[in-house]
Formats: sequence, C-alpha cells, structure tokens
Amino acid sequence: MLKVEGLRSKYGRIEVLHGINLTVDSGEIVTVVGANGAGKTTLLKCLSGIQPVSAGAIHFRGEALTTVPAYKRIHRGLAQSPEGRQIFTNLTVEENLRLGAYQYRDDRVEKDMDEAFHMFPILREKRNLAAGGLSGGQQQMLAMARALMARPACLLLDEPSMGLAPIIVQQIFDVVSELKSLGVTVLLVEQNAFGALKIADRGYVMETGQITMEGPAAELIADPRIRGAYLGV
Ligand code: ATP
Repeated sequence: MLKVEGLRSKYGRIEVLHGINLTVDSGEIVTVVGANGAGKTTLLKCLSGIQPVSAGAIHFRGEALTTVPAYKRIHRGLAQSPEGRQIFTNLTVEENLRLGAYQYRDDRVEKDMDEAFHMFPILREKRNLAAGGLSGGQQQMLAMARALMARPACLLLDEPSMGLAPIIVQQIFDVVSELKSLGVTVLLVEQNAFGALKIADRGYVMETGQITMEGPAAELIADPRIRGAYLGV
C-alpha cells in the first residue's frame, strides 16, 4: 500500500534522513521505533507532505506521491495524527472531529462520528466541551479520532503514547490494534518500542536517519540488540 524508496530529507543544508526504504502492506500495523531525534517525525512529515523530500520516492496505493501536496494526500487516503496532538483547543470535541471530515458533505460523517464515539466513549461524554479541557490521554484519543474521520486507508500515528500514564498508553495501543480489525492500515512511529512492537506485525528500527534493523515484530522483540538498546532488558 505504501512504499518508500531511498527517501532523503534535509533541514537547511543538514540531511536528517539518509535514504529510507520501507513498505507497509494493506491491513498491516507497521512500526518505526527509535530514540528521540532519530528522524521518525521527519519521516512522517515527508509522507504527509509537510516536509520536503530531497531524493527518493513515495508510492501510495500504486501512485507516486512525492510531489503531491499535503491536502491532496489526505484525499487519497493518507491521514496523520501528529506528534503533540495539535488539536484545536478552543473548539469543542465535536468540532474537532468535524474538521477531520472537512472534505465530506455526506451522511457518513454522522456515522463515522458515532463510530469514533464508540471507540472512545469518553469523547462522547465530552463532545460539547472545549478540547483544551481534556486530559493528555483524551486529547490523544481526539487526535486519533479526528484523523479517522478523514476515512484513511492508511493512518500515520506519531508517538501516540508520548507523555501519557502507563494505563492510558495501554488503552491507546489497544485502540491501534482494534483499528487493524476495522481494516485500517497503520504506520506507527514510537519511542515506546516495546508497546509498539507488541501490537505491530512488522517493525523498523531507525537510528540517526537510517533504518538499521527490520523484521517481524515478534523477532525484533526477541532480538538481544533491541532488548538491550530499546527495551531496557
Ligand atoms: P522525536 O521523538 O523527538 O520526535 P524523531 O525521531 O521524531 O524524534 P525528528 O524530530 O525527525 O526525530 O528529528 C530528526 C533530526 O532533525 C534531529 O536531529 C532534530 O534535531 C532535527 N530537526 C527536527 N526538526 C528540525 C527543524 N525544524 N529544523 C532543524 N532540525 C530539525
């Protein structure tokens, strides 16, 4: 579904992605794990079109995406839930969700919102409240639900567990697993390597702008190098 080939990206003259190769097949949960500063967020920004690519190619559902502007990528089925959530704090929960579906004018918007509330019941309870009043975990749920309102074929999730209490982190990962059963393909970027690899089908390890390891998630979890460097074992 998604294929990234030799992707390079720079901030000014400094290259931070040095030729990334990665694939995500339809129906998979794929995770990219790595330390702070490895380049994971930059990779997702390149995929969603808000960070320029200096070399390489991105293919999505059989089409070249590299030069397609960000707003059109959403129409093609690629939606991102960004790092730091970036919800609209002055708008209500429901208004945030409706913005996720801004390109749609059909009856399915109400149905999708109902599904989002089913997935995250706390959002239904708070639907008429300002999103800025939600807890960190609830804001993360809202960011994911808003991205789902765009009806993505592939959801890009940037560090959904960041800054959350362990019990909430588990809830978030449970929902990501659930997405798979709903047919959504997920590319999950995480510093929480253990949590991410536990729910993923396959994983990539990223270090200083390069992929250094890849394989089935179960194999990566069992690998002594990963256990030592990322799982604290
Ligand atoms: P994090 O977990 O902090 O998001 P990351 O793996 O996502 O880390 P990136 O945010 O992609 O890493 O950063 C990769 C490199 O690019 C880092 O060295 C970072 O300092 C640098 N970088 C990120 N954003 C910018 C920017 N806007 N301008 C210049 N350098 C940047």
